Amino acid sequence: MRWLIHFGSLAAGVVALGAAHVSAQRLPADVTPSHYDLSFDVDLANARFTGTETIRVDLAQPARAIVLNAAEITFREVTIESGSTRQTATVALNDARQTATLTVPRQLPGGPAQIHITYGGILNDKLRGFYLSTESNQRIAVTQLEATDARRAFPSFDEPSFKATFDISLTIDARDSAISNGRVISDTPAAGGAKHVVKFSTTPKMSSYLVAMAVGRFSCIEGSAESTPIRICGIEGKGEMGRIALDMAQQILKFYNTYFAIKYPYGKLDVLAVPDFAAGAMENTAAIFYRERDLLVDSKDASLTVRKRIASVLAHEMAHQWFGDLVTMKWWDDVWLNEGFANWMESRPLAAIRPDWNVAVDEALDNQAALGLDALKTTHAVHAPVETPAEIDEAFDAITYQKGASVLRMIENYLGPDTFRAGVNTYLRAHAYGNATSQDFWSAMAEASGKPVERIMPTFINQPGAPLLEVSVSCINNRSQIDISQQRFFLDPSLMQTRSAERWQIPVCIKAGSSGAGGCDLIADNKQTLSLGNSCVPWAFANAGAQGYYRTAYSPEMLRALAPRIQEALTPPERLSLSGDEWALVRAGRHSVIDYLTLAAGYATEHTDGVLSTVVDKFEYIDEYLTTPENRPRFQRFVRSLFVPLFQEIGFTSTAVDSDERRALRATLIHTLGVTGEDPEVAASARTALDRALGGGPALDPTLAHSIIEVAARHGDAALFDTILASAERSTSGDEKYRYLYALAQFTDPALINRALAYSLTPKLRSQDTASFFARFLHEEAARPRAWAFMKEHWAQLEPKIAIFGGDTTVTSALGSFCDAATREDIRAFFGQHPLPSASRTLSQTLERIDNCVALRASQTSKVSEFLQR
Ligand SMILES: [Zn+2]
Repeated sequence: MRWLIHFGSLAAGVVALGAAHVSAQRLPADVTPSHYDLSFDVDLANARFTGTETIRVDLAQPARAIVLNAAEITFREVTIESGSTRQTATVALNDARQTATLTVPRQLPGGPAQIHITYGGILNDKLRGFYLSTESNQRIAVTQLEATDARRAFPSFDEPSFKATFDISLTIDARDSAISNGRVISDTPAAGGAKHVVKFSTTPKMSSYLVAMAVGRFSCIEGSAESTPIRICGIEGKGEMGRIALDMAQQILKFYNTYFAIKYPYGKLDVLAVPDFAAGAMENTAAIFYRERDLLVDSKDASLTVRKRIASVLAHEMAHQWFGDLVTMKWWDDVWLNEGFANWMESRPLAAIRPDWNVAVDEALDNQAALGLDALKTTHAVHAPVETPAEIDEAFDAITYQKGASVLRMIENYLGPDTFRAGVNTYLRAHAYGNATSQDFWSAMAEASGKPVERIMPTFINQPGAPLLEVSVSCINNRSQIDISQQRFFLDPSLMQTRSAERWQIPVCIKAGSSGAGGCDLIADNKQTLSLGNSCVPWAFANAGAQGYYRTAYSPEMLRALAPRIQEALTPPERLSLSGDEWALVRAGRHSVIDYLTLAAGYATEHTDGVLSTVVDKFEYIDEYLTTPENRPRFQRFVRSLFVPLFQEIGFTSTAVDSDERRALRATLIHTLGVTGEDPEVAASARTALDRALGGGPALDPTLAHSIIEVAARHGDAALFDTILASAERSTSGDEKYRYLYALAQFTDPALINRALAYSLTPKLRSQDTASFFARFLHEEAARPRAWAFMKEHWAQLEPKIAIFGGDTTVTSALGSFCDAATREDIRAFFGQHPLPSASRTLSQTLERIDNCVALRASQTSKVSEFLQR
């Protein structure tokens, strides 16, 4: 699955309300399914369906009862056939455990049996299971079964290790068509003639959460890669907006067919965008389902961000066809084997297809996002026990995705890409159509490489947190000596002092001095000394390539030696990692904000957008939390003095020859100067450009549009508010629509903020967008207190829209933007009363972040004043 929000853009975050930890919810292991025959008669008009199901199972021993999963299913008739006897079973439901126990009068012998079930179900509005999505007058039935919702569509052995084959047929209205995992093998009129029956080819052996069905009026565009047909589909009338996606999907599939020893094994690939979808996208075997915004776009209006997102989500879901679908984790405690892998893999084809996109910088940014969450005491190990559906849902977080991917990149860098690839292929071949564990992975890697991967990886996967390496250089007998010590890094300064016991085996790569000396070594001890070359160097950078999953702290002397050289000496990912680590050290109370601001001056000529963005994000934070009303204008002046020269070089207006990178850099500068820097000229230019575009003049450069609209809205009035809202409602292009919709959070007039918040209660805002909408307001200083008050006041109405996959954690995490003790207590108390079970860890993380911000404010506000006096 792919999340709708990039974790980097929002802090992630509560906890264990001491919650009744439901004891192990696993099915007994003695009944194993091998094949499902599933027939659905779909009644879109009444939002329900009936199902007829046969499951072929094998009983390890004689039994009178079989337990499987079912939720929101109404059983009609159940019989179990064994040999020549067929017995009617009684059904006992356990709602809490989401199981049904089928009991027959006489004992079934061990060996094969067939379970026959007829049942009814509802097409719900919760975006999970088999659910209803609507757009204007169209109704669509669609599935989202990961992680534990196949049981809402059909009674099933709904655990990833119970792999089986599936024959699916759908009886649907005459004007509708259907998409599923298999290809269509027949399409015939149903008895009675008003409907037709679409039958699909038998699927390969796969887990129940990967079953896919969609019914509606779809339009598709078709292509292929190496004889595999590929279709990009949307609801009627939208298929044409899949051109960018189709082009990418073809190139990505070719890349994967070369990278993996096993070529794409499923015969066809359909990718379908649906109007209502909780996650970003879902990797159902050979039938990837998507949120519209992340797949379909008007080619003329596609910003760099949206083109990158389409490509990276496709690359992610397509990587899952191998990592997840072909080889599946044995249990959800290893979901990183799916998600960490897909996140790691998605960059590989992108880097090959679009080298100009600086994918390595995005990867370094992902490392930073994971390291940020891992610094909290409320983090968790990548491999961590989960049992209940709520715990499983919450495992889909930045640790699973980004940390999982970061650790893989570090290992790939350590082994070399060819050796790593050989290990990946050993692993895939060994477990194809089966299941695997973390242990299986590092054993395959160790075997392929002959290196101690099985000692390194568990230290990163099985224990929480990340190491901080303290690095210093000395010169002894004209040789450089680098001393490195490790300890767990915590955001909370008091925890740092306790020096907790975790130790890592860390592949560390060094780059030293301008001579280019360096090399990689494995750091296994608390303290280790590396010897470098035969001359002395003034500085050493201890995360060469920025592929290491750790933070580094340098002595003040070394930082002073390095700072003026960062633009020449370090690559963009390295510069990003240096500034990210320095900021983390400020937040952890080890360095002063003055150190950070001094280093940041070295980024005033930064030409890589991803790097500049991470630096100016911290400026936005300092501006809001660490200035006083008295010195804030002075800080804003400092921001302008730092970045106006670069802005003058880049300019406000795009030209036809500008690269994507230059446009993205321009967008970041407009936003920084227009918002954090409060530059009146930039604000005026943004308003003029927007008014012209809205008045029928030249359209905004799609890559700049987001910044221009936000800056204009930040300084905008009621008339602009009305225009922006109307533009959001009128837009048919997803990217443009959300650009306008989310810009509503930028207005600072309380009356306009209230109007925008009230919009969330209208049917015009889809459930899938509700959490992201509020997250935007919670991120903004002016809107934040109102947004929180509004959410509490209207919780009964909002809760069903927010408590969908990912929505609960998005909102809970966004509350981490508060920075005062009273609101912290209010948030804690509110969710004590109104728990969101899948966001309990996120809540603890949010409270911890607020505590950190409060402490930082107390210690660093005066430092900012001191810096500004200079
Ligand atoms: Zn995924």
